[in-house]
Amino acid sequence: MPELPEVETILRQLERLIKGRKIKEVQVAVPRILYHLSPADFKKRLRGAVFTSFSRRGKFLLCHMNEGELVMLIHFRMTGSLLYGTPSAISKAHTRISFWLDNDKLLCYNDMRKLGKIELIKGELVDNFHELKSLGPDPLSPDFSPQLLYNILQGSRRQVKELLLDQHKIAGLGNIYASEVLFDCGIHPQKKAHSLSPEEVGGLHRSILKILHLAIESRGCSIANYVDLAGESGAFQELRNVYQREGEPCYRCGELICRIKQQQRSTYLCPRCQQ
Ligand SMILES: [Zn+2]
Repeated sequence: MPELPEVETILRQLERLIKGRKIKEVQVAVPRILYHLSPADFKKRLRGAVFTSFSRRGKFLLCHMNEGELVMLIHFRMTGSLLYGTPSAISKAHTRISFWLDNDKLLCYNDMRKLGKIELIKGELVDNFHELKSLGPDPLSPDFSPQLLYNILQGSRRQVKELLLDQHKIAGLGNIYASEVLFDCGIHPQKKAHSLSPEEVGGLHRSILKILHLAIESRGCSIANYVDLAGESGAFQELRNVYQREGEPCYRCGELICRIKQQQRSTYLCPRCQQ
């Protein structure tokens, strides 16, 4: 699933390549990708719309159209991706929605499992949109201080890894980066959130920022099926320490990496480095 660094990578490419472009035509092959809009309404509202700017909240991508009058909100869920290029160059194996642009290039929303969602919201209503309103702070926002993280953790008796995945608490981390972050700061994923000391929370805060920035520099992680706007893989999988390395030696201490289950999801850790 695209997490914060993958969505940020796509956003930066859209800024560079699509900003100022006008949508000439829209094709909807799989209507259920649209939250509750009919394909006809979706097409009508987007035909002639101009991409003004792009932003991100957690794993949500916001395409601001017509100087912010309209926002196209995209959540990629498990296998969603955006591809951009000449019509002949784009893989159309799982294309669900296509946008024809005024430079005769195509922006395609591809999604093998069809679980992603696209919504259109009036610009002035975007802050009240329920899925965005309920998000916790984004770790790359200026508000995300060690003190804020400490307050979030103090209020919970849940295990720290579970809390990091809860988008209502912190928006943007998923299973790959939560495992990598906890390894980086040496915190055991099953530790109770409220039991972390201010020093441990400080270390966790530093590791969240360090791993996310490293992953953005690497243009995301393609251990599953993630590709960027040009169809290229990211490189963070080469830098990971624990995720999907069960039974392999820890790069730091040589102990074997192990896998545990938390909320039906796999967590990877080094039992010696993470206490
Ligand atoms: Zn280790």
